[in-house]
Amino acid sequence: MLEISPVGTIHSQWGEGPVWWQGALFFVDIEGHRVHRFDPATGDQRTWDVGQRVGTVVPRESGGLVIAGDHGLFFLDEESGQLTAIADPEPGLADNRFNDGKCAPDGRFFAGTISLTKKLGTARLYRLDPDLSLHEAFGPVTNSNGLAWSADGKILFYIDTPRKEVLAFDYQDGHLSNIRSVISTAHLEASPDGMTIDERGNLWIAFCHGACVICFDPQSGEELQRVELPCLETTACAFGGPDLADLYVTTGVHKSVVEEDAGRLFVIRGLGVKGVPAYAFGG
Ligand code: CA
Repeated sequence: MLEISPVGTIHSQWGEGPVWWQGALFFVDIEGHRVHRFDPATGDQRTWDVGQRVGTVVPRESGGLVIAGDHGLFFLDEESGQLTAIADPEPGLADNRFNDGKCAPDGRFFAGTISLTKKLGTARLYRLDPDLSLHEAFGPVTNSNGLAWSADGKILFYIDTPRKEVLAFDYQDGHLSNIRSVISTAHLEASPDGMTIDERGNLWIAFCHGACVICFDPQSGEELQRVELPCLETTACAFGGPDLADLYVTTGVHKSVVEEDAGRLFVIRGLGVKGVPAYAFGG
């Protein structure tokens, strides 16, 4: 029996980018310019105002966080809240900002940009190496979104939202090759957004404007399971909890439809499947 409920008291304008790390769920509120940390065991919540739209947050192996937002990539000190700039690859593109990101099993941080004016092919997926050098990993894209690595770290699954499909690449030492399409979501009106992978190797995708997360088998491309949520803007998902058996889902506020719990963090319990641990940035 599935249990689907909002947790915590945070109401985001546009929640996104959940990642489970050391007993807590970190996520962002893109339009609220905030990074949040929620500890479900204690109910403790912490918030950092980062002063810009922030698309993603990831943990750093040596402590602290890395974020990516309007003005590039930054370290975020959890104690002081201070930001330290790392790199900004698109300073001349005022209509672009960083969107979803995730760390690879080898400690590299991947984050992509989005064209806010939906200008096709003006965004990119970038890779930040532990030596703090920034590289273009893939492009052009338009709305760089969900990322997930296979458990052996050899395949990267990737969503560029307007393409309405999941791409797969062979992954080695930061490099992407052998691009192919493994899942089509073209039959759905909603947009594929954030993504995570479970221990069986299946992909869980949150569908923006779709009020659902859907599990797909990347081998066959088939839909395996659909879980509906009471908010249209289901944006991203990540497994968390003590056994990685709970699926956390971030949501946003729809531009016109009023929904009581829009923007809250949800948890889905009772799926009977576990996630795989997140990775941290190695630099
Ligand atoms: Ca997203």
